[in-house]
Amino acid sequence: MLDTSTPVASSPSAPPVPPPRLYHAFRKRIHLICFLVFVGLPFFDVMRFDIPKQRFYFAGQEIWINEFAIIFFALMFLLFVIAGASMLYGRVYCSYFCPQMIFSELSLALEERWQKWINKHFIQWPAGRRKAAARVGFYATLAGVSVFLAFVFISYFVEPRDLIRRLMQFDIVTAGGIAGAVTTIFTFLDFAFVRLRFCKMICPYGYLQGMFSDKQTLLVVYRDGTAKEKACIECKKCVRVCHMGIDIRKSPFQIECIHCGECVEACDDVLARLKKPGLIHYTWGEQGELLGSTMGDNPRPWWYRMGLRDAKRAVVVFVLLFYASGLTVALSMRQTVSVRIQPDRTVLYATNEAGEITNAFRLNLANRGGQDSEIRIDAEGLQGARLVIPAEALRIEGGESRQIVFHVAVTKGVLPPGVNHFRFRATWSPKGTEQVYPMTFITPTFITPSK
Ligand code: SF4
Ligand code: SF4
Repeated sequence: MLDTSTPVASSPSAPPVPPPRLYHAFRKRIHLICFLVFVGLPFFDVMRFDIPKQRFYFAGQEIWINEFAIIFFALMFLLFVIAGASMLYGRVYCSYFCPQMIFSELSLALEERWQKWINKHFIQWPAGRRKAAARVGFYATLAGVSVFLAFVFISYFVEPRDLIRRLMQFDIVTAGGIAGAVTTIFTFLDFAFVRLRFCKMICPYGYLQGMFSDKQTLLVVYRDGTAKEKACIECKKCVRVCHMGIDIRKSPFQIECIHCGECVEACDDVLARLKKPGLIHYTWGEQGELLGSTMGDNPRPWWYRMGLRDAKRAVVVFVLLFYASGLTVALSMRQTVSVRIQPDRTVLYATNEAGEITNAFRLNLANRGGQDSEIRIDAEGLQGARLVIPAEALRIEGGESRQIVFHVAVTKGVLPPGVNHFRFRATWSPKGTEQVYPMTFITPTFITPSK
């Protein structure tokens, strides 16, 4: 995946030196993809919460906050993706996918670029002035970037097009506008001054990592020969490229290490010039084999080499598949129009002006789709029953929910006294969905049924 050139021969007799592993370019490509996904998710309703409308958008569907099953499966699935990935591949989320990491590295690169540009174009200026100019340029650029990032972040909670309108009107009065302004300030301060310190000192995920990892989790490990035959040339390039500011040679279990692999590439690069293999590697646990190793004469199956090394990992993958299946089933069974009918037993029965016996029922309608829906309700198995319900009450627009009370009226004496079982049959557009609701109609017990 990351090896890009043919092996370099160190000497006619020595084994060929493997080519440098290019983790930096690989990470930057993943970061770019993550950035595009981060920006695109709310715009295309792939995943976002809409707080004003109290909706959860997932895979293009508008999920109502009371659709518990879908939200539960979606959140559990995401949780197990992160926990499972941590168990198998260590801090792969931190180094490859975390927005804090991606934008912190972007901020560091931006600052460096400004400094280089000022140094190149204003070499005649004193060093202090060049440094100050670079900082002004960096802060100005970061301010613009912060507005954009805050906009994308808030659009996970407020409809993005509505947010653009507010931004155009410089709205800092409504809750959305205030949230946008505060988020912009925090984003600016974060990526100007905090950056990777957040990962080292604040983020709880790094601390939780210890709970998920075990002796077979993927790690970045420094392996040199015996004390007498050390191959390390003490160039310290592995330390200089580490944004977390640590020396991987001290231990593979430093909490700051995010397993990004930058030091692996740095060491490969330095030692390749001396025709030697690098000393830092991704390995399956501290003592395990190298990532990508085929285990020589005893090749392991692909799933073992991918990290599925014991029953615990198989269980994690099984649970992940369970939640993914649950989510798929819940989404496929989802009905955009919900019709619920329940008896209203505030009063058991009543007599209307026409002298009929009436029972009240509660109708709950919710249209979670974009199309209007027409509902038809029939009472079956109830002799002489008449529904008293206005026609307009049975039409519901997309995004609307409503509760109404309607009545069923039966001429006095037609039904036996007491409890009469019947059912409602509801049919609704646009798909012609049908549902039956077993129900009871109560008549006064002192009425003699007609023969
Ligand atoms: S880059 Fe490699 S050779 Fe250089 S100090 Fe680090 S481990 Fe040693
Ligand atoms: S020690 Fe290496 S793998 Fe760990 S954070 Fe630093 S550069 Fe990345």
